[in-house]
Amino acid sequence: MAILVQKYGGSSVATPERIKAVARRVVAARERGYQVVAVVSAMGDTTDELIALARQITQRPPRRELDMLLATGEQISIALLAMAIHDLGYPVISLTGPQGGIITDNTHTRARILRVEPDRVRSELNAGRIVIVAGFQGINPANDITTLGRGGSDTTAVALAAALNAEICEIYTDVDGVFTADPRVVKEARRLEDISYGEMLEMASLGAVVLQPRSVEYAAQYGVVIHVRSSFHEGPGTLVREERKVERDLMVIGVTHDTNVAKVVITDVPDRPGVAYRIFSALAEDAINVDMIVQTTKRENTTDLLFTVSRDDLPRTLEITEAVARELGATGVLHATDVAKVSIVGAGMVSNPGVAARMFQALAENQINIQVISTSEIKISCLIDEGSLQRAVRAIHEKFQLHEVPARVGRER
Ligand code: ASP
Ligand code: MG
Repeated sequence: MAILVQKYGGSSVATPERIKAVARRVVAARERGYQVVAVVSAMGDTTDELIALARQITQRPPRRELDMLLATGEQISIALLAMAIHDLGYPVISLTGPQGGIITDNTHTRARILRVEPDRVRSELNAGRIVIVAGFQGINPANDITTLGRGGSDTTAVALAAALNAEICEIYTDVDGVFTADPRVVKEARRLEDISYGEMLEMASLGAVVLQPRSVEYAAQYGVVIHVRSSFHEGPGTLVREERKVERDLMVIGVTHDTNVAKVVITDVPDRPGVAYRIFSALAEDAINVDMIVQTTKRENTTDLLFTVSRDDLPRTLEITEAVARELGATGVLHATDVAKVSIVGAGMVSNPGVAARMFQALAENQINIQVISTSEIKISCLIDEGSLQRAVRAIHEKFQLHEVPARVGRER
């Protein structure tokens, strides 16, 4: 029997009624002849509430204890979903991440899955049960509970799908799929029929919150096909899979934006070998993800080093960089949070000169100043003033005529 992994996000299990609706969907998949594994997130805003609760005790909760706390969110939803499925008359069992064999490294609050030991899940499936697994959590080699970072249930689902050789990994969420831009910002935004792993990874990393970037990386590594769909209504959703056929006029498939960005500038850093290494290795040791990096030569023998991190990481980043800056003899550390990142993504842009110029033109026509630019083969990002963000996203969407994207994708098939 084929195995189907489904993942339901927090909004899909936010209330008892919604949990019952999810139970009916899970059971329907079983009726279609699948062995079903359902991965669930914590109900609604539970994870945010738990974080806020910890902050009422201390500003700096030990990460191990934060994981112990956060993991309770998913434990509530797996038990309730299992009860709802039981009530419908189907054999079912709920398992925590550790019980489900999700083995992670030691990085509390943003652990990486090292491997999945699917024996328990498999034997429960073979005993005829529907298996509900808590997303977002695992166990490290020291037998401590870990969590996988915000949005980590997506990665739990993909990792289980890979380990169980599932036919597909369905991610049920509160949007209809992956869009050419955030539909709340651009009302002409269109749903994409399918998207490659590379493009999805960029979109997810650049602020499209549909999937945790790590889950896309994992899916690409193991060839897991992800189907992003709405848990509230039927619809075709978006397929994330190997390369889509790149059409010449489809060089850009989406505009993403991210406001969870902070800019840090270390001023007058001595210009000598090893300085960047010293700064960024210190941040890496604390698992702080640095995004855009620019080094500018100011006057002789010193440079300014600018980079961006997520706003959540800013307090730790400042602590670390201030210490390193003093040690290196830099004159100071400045920061700003009134910035945002707007990006375009598309596998076709590597072979199309002029894509960057068109993006900059859209910003110029709207008098939007670009503070930092960064590029890869399939994306271009600009750091701009947060206040101009919505205008920027709309202008770029329009400039690349992204409201026509699905029609063109449709012709391809
Ligand atoms: N509950 C966790 C979060 O809110 C994990 C997830 O939903 O994927 O980030
Ligand atoms: Mg999510």
